[in-house]
Amino acid sequence: MEIQRLIPLPAVFKITTELFETVKEVIEEEFPPGHRILLVSDSGDAKVYGEILHDVPHVSHAIFMRGGTIEDVMEVEEIIRSENVDVVLGVGGGRILDTVKLASSRTFIPSILVPTALSHDGIISPVAVIDFGDEIKSTRAIAPYGAIVDLNIISKAPLTFNLAGCGDLISNISALEDWKLAAELKGEKIDYFAYMLSKSGARSILYSEARPFSTGFFEDLAEGLAASGVSMIISGNSRPASGAEHLISHALDKILKAAHPHGIQVGIATLFTQRLRGSSVERIKAFYRKIGFPLSPMEIGISKEVFMDAVKLAPTTRKNRFTILDVKNSPDDWEEAFEVYFE
Ligand SMILES: [Zn+2]
Repeated sequence: MEIQRLIPLPAVFKITTELFETVKEVIEEEFPPGHRILLVSDSGDAKVYGEILHDVPHVSHAIFMRGGTIEDVMEVEEIIRSENVDVVLGVGGGRILDTVKLASSRTFIPSILVPTALSHDGIISPVAVIDFGDEIKSTRAIAPYGAIVDLNIISKAPLTFNLAGCGDLISNISALEDWKLAAELKGEKIDYFAYMLSKSGARSILYSEARPFSTGFFEDLAEGLAASGVSMIISGNSRPASGAEHLISHALDKILKAAHPHGIQVGIATLFTQRLRGSSVERIKAFYRKIGFPLSPMEIGISKEVFMDAVKLAPTTRKNRFTILDVKNSPDDWEEAFEVYFE
């Protein structure tokens, strides 16, 4: 018997408009002199932020890379070992942050992540998406020690990335309904703290009163995505933030030659899965209209046929994830739910 459970959580989460000062402060507070910090930065558009952070205290080594492959992870691991690094500071998009997350997990040292876009809820999460050559895998990792979000950087990121972050967060609404369904029909256990955090993450953006893509809006988005990430750390899997709508997106990734951003796909699929289960979509649609989020697959060039193929393939993309697609599994049900895109 345990009196309580112990779950390691990230220690630092900061939202700022002064990147250099905030990172410097965090490092001075958390990692006093004597620590050796490796900076891993995106070598593309975000290189400029890496160059800024090169001068924060204790950065003893820096590399600039594209990131995202297992070779990149191994390269970072190699430097961590050979340079006796104590902390990794990662700055960039998902590819860099996931590279840092996995390399620091495999060497058991903490990481601090500075995202340059808010495109998904994987920043503070125990998962790294890495290209292993033959396939791209979601790999278990230790969640970062901390994350620092600079709203000035985020506001300069391409709109589609930030829209994707909104879609990924809204998709929690569908994922949570699938979790409840699995509890009801399959006896799956709901971890209430994870449930609650995921829900409040989605609500932070759905009910945000800030003007779309203003600083206040990005603050709500950053907090929501962080809450969603922590919900996955607490539950120990992606259940609180990934249901049928994520399975449809995984299937689209397999079918389409060039998939769209994850958050855009799951956000569009959420309308379908919510209609399929008979839940109201009006509030979500109103939010999508407000921020200019695509309201149908056709709007991003995905035909009805391709979308339906993805719905059919979806349950096979992940074993042991019971969703509404296991209950409403006839083409007639899907046909009816697809009407949500024409209203
Ligand atoms: Zn997601």
